[in-house]
Amino acid sequence: MSSLQPAVAQLFLVRCNSRASVDKIFRLVLSPFIALSAIGFVLSVAAHLAAVAGSPIPFGKAVWALHIGIFVVWLPTILVSYRLTRGASRKDFWKIALIGCPKWMRTALYIVFGYGILNFAFFIATTAGHPQPKGDPPPQVVRGFSGHWMMFYGAAFATLYSASAIGYSGMDRKCPNGHSVGITAKFCEECGAPLEPSFVDR
Ligand SMILES: [Zn+2]
Repeated sequence: MSSLQPAVAQLFLVRCNSRASVDKIFRLVLSPFIALSAIGFVLSVAAHLAAVAGSPIPFGKAVWALHIGIFVVWLPTILVSYRLTRGASRKDFWKIALIGCPKWMRTALYIVFGYGILNFAFFIATTAGHPQPKGDPPPQVVRGFSGHWMMFYGAAFATLYSASAIGYSGMDRKCPNGHSVGITAKFCEECGAPLEPSFVDR
């Protein structure tokens, strides 16, 4: 395995000799996670609507697969969001992370979050003190959890979409003197050199 690493690294370097090909590979790596987030989001909404209507979940216990799927999409989401928001202040975290998304997507995500928080409050208020159910999850439990799934899959989709739109070269901005700079910066914080237009200005 270890002898394979230099060969793989070399191949990677040869193929990534231009920014365009780096971006191409980056988008290729992200695309299955973006697709999975989209599928997870749609299934979460379907499970949620069924639960709100009070009908039993068509796929029974398989609904918990949505729970597992979150971990699959959340890891790359965390990685790219830290990269995207490097140098940004904490309060601007989502604003910067979602900067590659169209405005409607950001608005939709904020609505999903607002709804998810209300749904969680409703879940706590209606299920507190009830005994642990056996067998298939009852609609009120699926209703509670699916609100969270919608938030996680929605946030994963939007963040990964944003990173894909900005591209690796857009996330890995450097000043003319080689210092790392944030994706929205106009000047280098270390040397003050003016920077080329970022994704945001294009
Ligand atoms: Zn600099």
